[in-house]
Amino acid sequence: MTPNDSFAVVRAPVDTTSHYAVDIDVRTADEVYDPAFEIIIEQMLVRLGEDPEREGLKRTPLRVAKALDFLTSGYTTPMESVVNNALFQSESEDMVIVKDIEFYSLCEHHMLPFFGRVHVAYVPKDKIIGLSKIARVVDVFARRLQVQERLTNQIADAMMEILEARGVGVVAEASHFCMMMRGVQKQNSSTITSAMRGSFRDDARTRAEFMSLVRP
Ligand code: ZN
Repeated sequence: MTPNDSFAVVRAPVDTTSHYAVDIDVRTADEVYDPAFEIIIEQMLVRLGEDPEREGLKRTPLRVAKALDFLTSGYTTPMESVVNNALFQSESEDMVIVKDIEFYSLCEHHMLPFFGRVHVAYVPKDKIIGLSKIARVVDVFARRLQVQERLTNQIADAMMEILEARGVGVVAEASHFCMMMRGVQKQNSSTITSAMRGSFRDDARTRAEFMSLVRP
């Protein structure tokens, strides 16, 4: 069965001997997304003491399967499809910075969201990239189970590889639900990580220029 197979709505045969019969509407199986995954989520609801048959939860396994699929879609997004036709020749060697790219990710320890902003800068050698593509590179790595440090490093490494740049700098600032909702329950802390490559690592002035421009 493929996820695209659609199901007909299944209705219970009307039993005229019972006055409840006309109201019986067997659990609608009109949409199935990932049956194996949905069963696991249903079992999780039971384990949590919930009733997966109650109205508000009936379609929850389907919704959760869809949401998690989207939130981890970075695993299967090829970088070529992201960068596709957006690399251009350029003589410029001036720093390019895209500030405040918002991102949403899931921490790999608790599968709870962490989210924030990332600033990405590079000094080109002879290639530049469409600015919106930088945000898409961020999404490819954010939409996985992550730790913020690895996310920051992966963005920097990908930018270096794609652009063969003189240097790349990435700073990420994020709030982690696993710290805010549980554990130490610190709502106002934020975590800042950075990754410097090439001239951003080797040249203190380049790094300082970047940091002064992205400082909140
Ligand atoms: Zn966590």
